[in-house]
Amino acid sequence: MTDMVPPPSPLLDRIMAIVGPRGILTGEDVTARSCDPFRHVPPGSPAIIRPASSEELSRILALCHDAGQPVVTHGGRTGVAGGAMAGTDDLVVSLERMTKIIEIDPVTQTAIVEAGVTIEAVQNAAAEHGLLYPIDLGSKGSATVGGTIATNAGGNRVLRWGMTRPNVLGLEAVLADGTIVDLMNRFLKNNTGYDLKQLFIGSEGTLGIVTRAVLRLAPLPTTQNVAFIAVPDYSSVLELLTSARSMQQLSAFEVMWRDYYAVIAKHDPQRCPLAADQKYYVLVETMGMDETADEQAMQGFLEKAFEDGLIADAVTASSLKQVQDLWRIREGSELLVKEMGPFISFDISVDIRRAEEFVDTVYHQLDAQFSFFKAISFGHLGDSNIHIGVHIGPDTIAREAEIEDVVYGVVRQFGGALTAEHGIGTAKRDHLPSHITAQALETMVRIRNALDAERILNRKMMF
Ligand SMILES: Cc1cc2nc3c(=O)[nH]c(=O)nc-3n(C[C@H](O)[C@H](O)[C@H](O)COP(=O)(O)OP(=O)(O)OC[C@H]3O[C@@H](n4cnc5c(N)ncnc54)[C@H](O)[C@@H]3O)c2cc1C
Repeated sequence: MTDMVPPPSPLLDRIMAIVGPRGILTGEDVTARSCDPFRHVPPGSPAIIRPASSEELSRILALCHDAGQPVVTHGGRTGVAGGAMAGTDDLVVSLERMTKIIEIDPVTQTAIVEAGVTIEAVQNAAAEHGLLYPIDLGSKGSATVGGTIATNAGGNRVLRWGMTRPNVLGLEAVLADGTIVDLMNRFLKNNTGYDLKQLFIGSEGTLGIVTRAVLRLAPLPTTQNVAFIAVPDYSSVLELLTSARSMQQLSAFEVMWRDYYAVIAKHDPQRCPLAADQKYYVLVETMGMDETADEQAMQGFLEKAFEDGLIADAVTASSLKQVQDLWRIREGSELLVKEMGPFISFDISVDIRRAEEFVDTVYHQLDAQFSFFKAISFGHLGDSNIHIGVHIGPDTIAREAEIEDVVYGVVRQFGGALTAEHGIGTAKRDHLPSHITAQALETMVRIRNALDAERILNRKMMF
């Protein structure tokens, strides 16, 4: 790292006096980074500022505020909505030096951490105390607590433990003018005034920079059973979901349309234990505490499903290695990139009773609009969340707006949500006004103006 490059402006000079040379990156240390997890988009910023404490960050933001200097916050830069994109006018603030796990407490089942720590590091530390931090994403090795709070990240186990919001008991945030707001509540119950932490969760860094958090932990499950199931039709998928919900230990219900599964089977046949000849593939997971009872519950669920004619074929796994292998089918984003070339991805919520009709309508309209298209669909269906990837040939990126108009038009027609878990960022900003009411948007603008009238923080994000 070339830590010692002299700061090119008086403001950076003053920031350098706060953070020291280790606290500022410039030149190649900036351009070598990407703001996007799937392609190299370096920040345009002259520098990345790396405070080591909330107090340092507070002093930096106070200076930026006085100078009218916009700031973009970086966590692990795994966000897929363009929320980390920084232009030449922005300074980047990275939380990468604020990674302490301050306390894991088995009695209150809480963790107190700095916001730059990764989800995986929190999970590993919690596991040493027999506890689980249940937010679980394919990106957990890089995604940070601050980034997941800012985006209210979901992931694989939402149907059991919820999104990030219910797993955060308290937090600390630094506002645009440098004010440090301590909301480090540790209690399950606390109705003392407005629950201000909720404002920062899911606000994508537009209202404050999250610097610390109190996380809610759960007892660490000791069993994990996974079934990977081929299903002939969508009504059987819904019946399976209803039946799976009667298993207390149900922790994931992931659905892949055949087009998704066929891509994984084509590029990595070893990964796929079932023929790609059925319409749907479902990954059902339970996590519990009783080896015998949990295995029996999964077996009972599968036997009944076979008897009811809901299943064409299935395999099960209970060893860690087998379980991880089956999850690799669902987490095949690198193979999608290989197959689809450039593609536009969507992260929507829709009434699960109509998800098949929704996807069929999207495909039908893509077919009507474009001379060629390739699409894949999959998602956390137990949470109403579908991801769709669309490729229309070499023009895919150039014609992104047209593809979005088709898909988001169908989302509106079905009363769905523009984004289920990835957030608005810069990628969906233009679509936000047509997916919420004018009054809701105006209320958001008022809240943002109250906390950051000068638009210092993540000014191009959300709206
Ligand atoms: C392979 C892969 C799988 C994924 N799976 C899922 C999934 O299942 N579910 C899901 O929800 N997402 C998923 N994501 C998206 C991504 O991991 C999440 O959005 C995650 O929450 C981003 O965290 P981050 O630390 O990388 O934040 P970044 O990408 O750095 O930032 C995201 C946004 O939060 C803001 N931000 C970051 N840190 C802070 C902070 N401390 N205070 C205030 N604002 C901040 C940024 O400015 C930006 O707007 C996946 C991504 C990849 C690459």
